[in-house]
Amino acid sequence: MRKITIVGGGQSGLQLGIGLLKAGNEVRVVQNRTAEDIAKGKVLSSQCMFHTAVQNERDIGIDFWSDTCPPVDGINFMVPAPDGSGAKAIDWTGKLENSAYSVDQRVKIPRWMKEFEKLGGTLVIKDAGISDLELYARQDDLVIVASGKGEIGQLFQRDAEKSPYDKPMRALALTYVTGMTPRSGHSAVCFNLIPGVGEYFVFPAETTTGPCEIMVFEGVPGGPMDCWGDIKSPDQHLEKSGEILSTFLPWEADRCRNIELTDDNGILSGRFPPTIRNPIGVLPSGNKVLGLGDTVCLNDPITGQGSNNASKAAAVYLKRIIEHGDKPFDAQWMQGTFETFWDYAQWVVTWTNMMLMPPPPFILEIMGTACAEPRLARRMANAFDDPRDFFPWFADPDAAAAYLSELKAA
Ligand SMILES: Cc1cc2nc3c(=O)[nH]c(=O)nc-3n(C[C@H](O)[C@H](O)[C@H](O)COP(=O)(O)OP(=O)(O)OC[C@H]3O[C@@H](n4cnc5c(N)ncnc54)[C@H](O)[C@@H]3O)c2cc1C
Repeated sequence: MRKITIVGGGQSGLQLGIGLLKAGNEVRVVQNRTAEDIAKGKVLSSQCMFHTAVQNERDIGIDFWSDTCPPVDGINFMVPAPDGSGAKAIDWTGKLENSAYSVDQRVKIPRWMKEFEKLGGTLVIKDAGISDLELYARQDDLVIVASGKGEIGQLFQRDAEKSPYDKPMRALALTYVTGMTPRSGHSAVCFNLIPGVGEYFVFPAETTTGPCEIMVFEGVPGGPMDCWGDIKSPDQHLEKSGEILSTFLPWEADRCRNIELTDDNGILSGRFPPTIRNPIGVLPSGNKVLGLGDTVCLNDPITGQGSNNASKAAAVYLKRIIEHGDKPFDAQWMQGTFETFWDYAQWVVTWTNMMLMPPPPFILEIMGTACAEPRLARRMANAFDDPRDFFPWFADPDAAAAYLSELKAA
């Protein structure tokens, strides 16, 4: 049995903590907000999670929501026509092989905190600082920092080579609503790309009050969707959300004639630079701690991968810890653990960072072709579950041309 402390009890920290408890370890999770703070606070994310990530939760018995949460069954990608006619220039839908789900973290995290304690974990409510990390590192075999965007993550040095952007690439906003007209056909992430303006996507989810739809706005900085700074109230936030849709996406505005906020805390706005950090944090004593999830691999939400990554990283770390037996968790093991995750995550990061730039002509061609080529649409939809499948054809014009002609010939 190993003694392990995890600072930060979000998607990655609690998933790993519960997995470790079930594997017979002694686990402490240090969390800076109580379950009640989280349940009654503002929304944190849109957290749409695809099959592999949800399966990681099922594997350790903590998917408590797939039976009640409205499923997301596909990806619908749309681009408005440039002439401002209100028509769509691109519109394709790909069905997911397995449903995705979005469970409001205000529902999920408090439930997992309870489960963690029920399984015998030690939950400490505390905003951990460096001196706490020093103490945990002295007391335990391994300390993991899974603090998301929390300040303590600054302990881990930014990796400039893996982080092409040093400033926020989108102004973000979330609006959780009820009363939206469902899209016709099966449910989907309806992803709208408005060239030069930003992106809007929307999908069904489960929140504190039951089913809802989550509206996600990704505004290009300085553009018309970078518009949340002067919003003073939840009502204004809802109004602004509707205004954006009426201006740029009339088909989405049509679905929103009767929407209401799920609650006054069902809104969020902010921005952050996508950042990859060195996975090992060195404390003043020289002791080392390992970063997990957003702490060391923070993506823009444009591709909806953060919680998915957090789940996949937690699954990798869990396996590596169990396989390591009684051996010391030294720097080599820490680096190797992150590298195992990075073998996968590098593709997610590359794809996500690409989506933050204006699409080059070959991407527009891929997106256009998918309107008439269901195999391509289906492949792109399912690549949200495993973005490695976008490579190399989504990243390289020659590979794209070869793949498209292969499709036409088949
Ligand atoms: C607008 C928006 C939309 C998003 N949409 C999606 C999406 O559709 N799909 C998707 O997969 N991902 C999405 N994400 C990303 C996703 O929410 C995160 O990537 C995911 O929650 C990261 O998990 P984590 O465990 O690394 O960190 P978190 O879930 O953020 O957990 C970190 C925890 O650590 C705690 N903490 C911080 N500092 C300390 C400290 N010093 N001491 C103790 N505790 C501390 C925090 O309070 C928090 O509870 C979105 C994010 C945003 C902002």
